[in-house]
Amino acid sequence: MTPLHTHAVVGSGVPAGLLKIVGTNRDLPSPGGRAARWIDGDLAPEGDWDAFFCPHPLDASRSHRTIHSPRRSDVVAPGDVIRVRAGSSLVSVLYRRGANANALFVTERCNSYCLMCSQPPRDEDDSWRLAELLELVDLIDPDLTQLGITGGEPTLLGQGLVTLLAACRSSLPRTRLHVLTNARRFCEPGLAGAAAAIAERAVTWAVPLYADVASRHDYIVQAHGAFAETLHGIYNLAERGQAIEIRFVLHKESVPRLEPFAEFLWRNLPFVDHVAFMGLEPMGFAKLNRERLWIDPVDYALALERAVLHLSDRGMSASLYNLPLCVLPRSLWPFARKSISDWKNTFVAACEGCSERDSCAGFFSSAGVEWVSRGVRAIRETS
Ligand code: SF4
Repeated sequence: MTPLHTHAVVGSGVPAGLLKIVGTNRDLPSPGGRAARWIDGDLAPEGDWDAFFCPHPLDASRSHRTIHSPRRSDVVAPGDVIRVRAGSSLVSVLYRRGANANALFVTERCNSYCLMCSQPPRDEDDSWRLAELLELVDLIDPDLTQLGITGGEPTLLGQGLVTLLAACRSSLPRTRLHVLTNARRFCEPGLAGAAAAIAERAVTWAVPLYADVASRHDYIVQAHGAFAETLHGIYNLAERGQAIEIRFVLHKESVPRLEPFAEFLWRNLPFVDHVAFMGLEPMGFAKLNRERLWIDPVDYALALERAVLHLSDRGMSASLYNLPLCVLPRSLWPFARKSISDWKNTFVAACEGCSERDSCAGFFSSAGVEWVSRGVRAIRETS
């Protein structure tokens, strides 16, 4: 697991803000974008660059415009985009070339308060993020295949989200966007229409829905009326030809509705492009609410099998995220994805020698032993 942050020695001449790390000409940002020359090896910090990045210690007399001696030398690499803040030694990677899940984090604010939220919302004005993201989009490699947009709740930006989508479509025309949203604000036709007009078919709207009945969904997201707003938002997006993914997080409060939920989807939302059933990420509120939420996947595996096959048999596309293969019935293995971002993915001692490790999602690195299913055991198969 490679973290997204590290501390380093930041020279006093390094400008605060975003920097594209340039190893070769391929990495050069478009005109106006700021760049830090990678000076691993024999290169000296010379030339007309905004800054330099050296993964090793550097002579103090040569380090005025250089970031060097990172505490972890594997955090930053050529092609990445980093953020440096004035007077701080913290270097943050906002875009990592080659990572399996890059995302734009648009706000910490949210209009829901989900029991299992891995990124608990904070009600602070962070509207400064939009300007930074607009700059970031210009520094991302244009051949990136997929980019997430997440929060918090991205639609709280209102027109700001539309502006961000437009910037992505313009700077990254070949990149598919995946926006994680509760869609509640898309019950406003004006916002749904403006977003859809920019998104066209380049965006997938990933919308969490946790039950087939309002009372259960509203309880899980801790927001009265959320179920109705989300459904209304989904229909507004669908009416405008948008690609929609439904996300159902599996825990003790949602699993009892799993099978009726599958039938509900088939009856009411058969047009969605994809349904993702997701294991819990043990972070944030999920950790705080463990007693309320934890259920061993072994104990809902059969209900999950029935729900997934119910959808699949009817032609709906379904996937399983964040669940180890060894706790799933074999019939579900074709649906399981290696879904955990590489920087927070790990395996446990019991995985030693498992023949399925390369195709298994494994675990979140935040998962202690209390989050590991009793069904985990290495699979040993000879082909
Ligand atoms: S033993 Fe580990 S690698 Fe193998 S299927 Fe289970 S969780 Fe995955």
